[in-house]
Amino acid sequence: MSESTVGASLPMVVDTHHRPLRSLRLSVTDRCNLRCQYCMPEEEYVWLPRENVLSFEEMQQLAGYFADLGVDKVRLTGGEPLLRRDLSRLVRLLLQDRRITEIALTTNGILLADQIQDLYEAGLHRVTVSLDTLRPERFRQLTRRDEFARVIEGIESVGKTGFTGLKLDTVAIRGFNDDELVGLIEFAKHYRAEVRFIEYMDVGGANDWSLAKVLSRAAILEQLTQHYGPIVALPARDAAPAQRFQLPDGTTFGIIPSTTTPFCATCDRSRVTADGMWYLCLYASNGQDLRQPLRAGASPDHMRALIRAGWEARRDRGAEERKSLERSGLRNGKLIGIDQLREDPHLEMHARGG
Ligand code: SAM
Ligand code: SF4
Ligand code: SF4
Repeated sequence: MSESTVGASLPMVVDTHHRPLRSLRLSVTDRCNLRCQYCMPEEEYVWLPRENVLSFEEMQQLAGYFADLGVDKVRLTGGEPLLRRDLSRLVRLLLQDRRITEIALTTNGILLADQIQDLYEAGLHRVTVSLDTLRPERFRQLTRRDEFARVIEGIESVGKTGFTGLKLDTVAIRGFNDDELVGLIEFAKHYRAEVRFIEYMDVGGANDWSLAKVLSRAAILEQLTQHYGPIVALPARDAAPAQRFQLPDGTTFGIIPSTTTPFCATCDRSRVTADGMWYLCLYASNGQDLRQPLRAGASPDHMRALIRAGWEARRDRGAEERKSLERSGLRNGKLIGIDQLREDPHLEMHARGG
């Protein structure tokens, strides 16, 4: 059976592993004002053609079809989502649909101070800022831009508007920022934020990735235990990618162990790129074009049927598959070569949204 009802009358479509369709990551642009080495190691990219990029109204329409099938959480991402002019207008449009109960934003923070008030007034629920280091020089080396001060300003601006629940996402890389875990936790405390350490993943242009650079969940916990004392694991929340922990003084933090302990079994997320390609997994090599039928005037029933059929056929467990390749020693070298990336920019992390 592939449809059931939760609570009152929310329709729920499930995939071949009985995972519901609940959460949508909407990438609003593939452009970015940073060049993080693990995400956009090159300076120039093949960008999505501008005429293909969906308008906010088209995104609203698509989100509505997803909501018809059970989606209630939307995360705006990119590229850098704040490069998209007047993003708060999209937040307002999405919130016209009462079934969408949570809209979150993942941003590098550079343009946040300028836009945070508008986003707050528009009703955005949660903000996540990516921050990998507290050292300006290291930041410049990682991102190849001198924007550290503006990111910190962006983080400071969040609390001033009345937002609560700020999250700071840190990609933990062995030999790069593994000496900053404690510093980042202390920094977050100061801003009443929660750090989430993300294990380095091999996605798209992360062509410098190697298992040796992954700072594992176990290594993170060991280091933090040595510094703070015993750490307690908090109960799991359904389908949340972050495992949460508590330090002896009550401070909480998260770890997203995508590489060493994949959480595909409960994954309810899918992704729509800025040009309307729908991907069922972060690692999926093929997506479904939703822009074409949308712009051709397909009926709501047709759009819903497309999405329903796509989700019901979903088998993806990308991170688990990669892990078993590693384990069996079958993996040799890069999974996606640079030529392939240039041919299909959708394979890039900055196109499909992290
Ligand atoms: N530009 C925004 C930002 O950086 O927050 C949003 C898009 S970015 C692709 C979303 C998240 O993906 C960021 O937190 C980033 O650190 C993370 N990310 C990108 N490449 C990654 C990789 N190879 N491994 C783990 N996380 C990665
Ligand atoms: Fe860095 Fe985010 Fe831009 Fe990727 S999309 S280069 S992670 S800021
Ligand atoms: Fe979900 Fe794919 Fe990530 Fe697994 S690898 S958690 S299926 S997006």
